[in-house]
Amino acid sequence: MKLTKETLRNKLVFLGTAGARYVAFGFLRQAGGLYFNFDGFNVHVDPGPGAFVHAHRKGIDSHWTEAVILSHRHLDHCADVNHVIEAMTLGGKKKRGILFCPEDAVSQDPVVLEYTRGNLKTVNIVKEGDSYLLSDSLKVSFPIKHAHRVETYGLFFKWKNIGIAYISDTRFFSGLIDAYKGADLLILNVTLYKKRPVIDHLSSEEASVLIKEIQPKVAVMTHFGRTMLEAKPWLVANAITDSTGIKTLAAYDNMIFDLESFQVVRQR
Ligand SMILES: [Zn+2]
Repeated sequence: MKLTKETLRNKLVFLGTAGARYVAFGFLRQAGGLYFNFDGFNVHVDPGPGAFVHAHRKGIDSHWTEAVILSHRHLDHCADVNHVIEAMTLGGKKKRGILFCPEDAVSQDPVVLEYTRGNLKTVNIVKEGDSYLLSDSLKVSFPIKHAHRVETYGLFFKWKNIGIAYISDTRFFSGLIDAYKGADLLILNVTLYKKRPVIDHLSSEEASVLIKEIQPKVAVMTHFGRTMLEAKPWLVANAITDSTGIKTLAAYDNMIFDLESFQVVRQR
């Protein structure tokens, strides 16, 4: 199903569900990030490799995008950010759009080129606790710095009376629980099936703890690494639903989630 401006309205599209090296760069799954539409206001979060093409194939014109948010500078989260900005700004013809990113995404060896940044209306360097009004009905905040080697933030959208949290890459720590409390929809990057102490990513057991403590209405796991794919993410999601009592889904590439009904849109 190709989307149009109308059918994209108030939807979240998973332009990718790949996490980390093997799955993202072995192209076992797409890594195009999350595309949100809030009453016509479009936000592209973490446009990894292929984001521009995956969006286009889904019917999404990157020129519709108003804001791009990078949780961090790892390439599976930002490889296509320059393509997306180039499309947003019609190659610099139109100065428009907002970028949010941590400082190290634009300092030394910048992942967002100086050239594309210059075509944007605003570049906001994210710091812990920051909060911005994006439209009359939409606010984004960055409640806590994650533990992930490079500077990394998750985000919390407050849209009308709905809370939507995205826990991007991080090692588990208990501060995540309070930071993302109040989320009705909780999206988590669950790269590992079993916890591996040397790797700064969430495991499925830790995701289960976060879901149980944060108590969203619905949780969606994404950003799967190899061990999660081997464990079949939908089975892991079912097990978490059973153990927490909270509806937990495993995202798949190009999955469309309705932000009003909180249901996955059936695709033909
Ligand atoms: Zn990362």
